[in-house]
Amino acid sequence: MSAPAAVAWEPTIGLEVHVQLATRTKLFCRCAWRFGAQPNTLVCPVCLGHPGVLPVLNARAVEQGARAALSLGMTVNRESKFDRKNYFYPDLPKGYQISQFDEPLAQHGSIRLDDGTHVRIRRLHLEEDAGKAIHDRGDFGLVDFNRAGAPLAEIVSEPDLATPPQATEYLDRLKQTLRWAGVSDCDMEKGNLRVDINVSVAPAGRRATGTRCEVKNVNSFQSVARALEHEIGRQIAVLESGGTVRQETRTWDEAAGQTRVMRVKEEADDYRYFPDPDLPRLQLSAEWIEAQRAALPEPQAQRRRRYEQALGLSEYDARVLTAERETSAYFERLLAAGSAPKEAANWLVNDVLSWVPPGGGVDDQPIPPEYLAAVLQLRHDGRINRNGGRALLEARAGGDLRSPQELVSALGLETQSDAGALEQACRRAIAAQPKAADDVRAGKEKALGALLGFVMRETRGAADAGKTRAILLRLLQP
Ligand code: ADP
Ligand code: MG
Ligand code: ZN
Repeated sequence: MSAPAAVAWEPTIGLEVHVQLATRTKLFCRCAWRFGAQPNTLVCPVCLGHPGVLPVLNARAVEQGARAALSLGMTVNRESKFDRKNYFYPDLPKGYQISQFDEPLAQHGSIRLDDGTHVRIRRLHLEEDAGKAIHDRGDFGLVDFNRAGAPLAEIVSEPDLATPPQATEYLDRLKQTLRWAGVSDCDMEKGNLRVDINVSVAPAGRRATGTRCEVKNVNSFQSVARALEHEIGRQIAVLESGGTVRQETRTWDEAAGQTRVMRVKEEADDYRYFPDPDLPRLQLSAEWIEAQRAALPEPQAQRRRRYEQALGLSEYDARVLTAERETSAYFERLLAAGSAPKEAANWLVNDVLSWVPPGGGVDDQPIPPEYLAAVLQLRHDGRINRNGGRALLEARAGGDLRSPQELVSALGLETQSDAGALEQACRRAIAAQPKAADDVRAGKEKALGALLGFVMRETRGAADAGKTRAILLRLLQP
């Protein structure tokens, strides 16, 4: 967007997000569902759309859908229904998709952005996923039906977003909330979160009055921002040259960095929805809905505040520790084991998390919470210093399965605060590094580092740094 255009024109953005719900099996059959299996191995007559089969609703998917909705502050409807959305495409074996049309599972939620904007969420409905058409293998097409029938929640926002950064912030919040609730891992690379963008442009002050285009096939948050920038620029150019924006469905071409027209609205989107005669209306009791609410973890923002206010953690530590539910669960286990909150946060954030492999979580690194809790206890008892604690973590990360207590003696990590032994080591340091010793005597305290380092090496890191410093200074008094 060029600066003058941004003043004259105002974009309006609404997002339709599909997330795959974390369940073991599909929405209407008992096929297992997981990403990355051999093509067409997770299928049965139901999800392949054979004649005469009947769908049976997966209760777990309804649970996960309801929890998703509740975590977004939505109202879960006591009654909803399933409809057939009819269209033809090779990855849709039945010739229709079972979705929810005019009576969705839930409605009326919102997400608050940092700038105070409330983005209203219009609805959340359940639907089944389609298979995957593969077109990049030469002059023929392939279809993998593993994904066909996987449970999706479609979450539709009101057109309350005005800028690309707001759109990515909304998506990030949505993803964090759903991951925290444990209803989806929202991994865009696996297609577990997919975004359709709706965008229009109107003269400033007349938001949401322009004709909108829908942009599909946007596969990362970064692409969402890029696609929006491009599409907003395109619509402004059309309007400024006196043209009109046509309502159409466009696709994002990642390589070309632009949107391209897919189909014009008038020709498409007549899905002839009607209630699925094979599925009864979905009725949920108030008690069941409350039970889903009760099953949700303490909300992320609330836990973050509690870490800062009740436990006295820094804003940074509280944010890192509540970014993922598994990290927070790890931290909670340290607290349950009696570790001091600040120490525990420090070691978890600065040390343990450094072993998390790229793209992984705290459960993918080698140090279990019980182990770190034992290390913290040794620190608390003054038996090891920071280096010793670090050495214990390194031992475990390197595959040594002995307990911290065993390792302290095996590796000689016990803090040496015995003044006699320390003084001996300090005298050796002074004798070995006369130049540094002279410098300290001459008032250059910086030179103390070299002597301290010598003592640390001699004691293999086990010397108490404070005490060593004091002894050295005493011995080197001019
Ligand atoms: P449809 O029923 O045709 O899909 P909706 O009114 O349900 O249309 O809107 C679909 C999406 O388009 C929603 O996410 C909504 O926020 C967004 N939207 C609606 N009006 C506009 C607009 N003027 N500009 C941009 N997005 C819009
Ligand atoms: Mg729509
Ligand atoms: Zn199946």
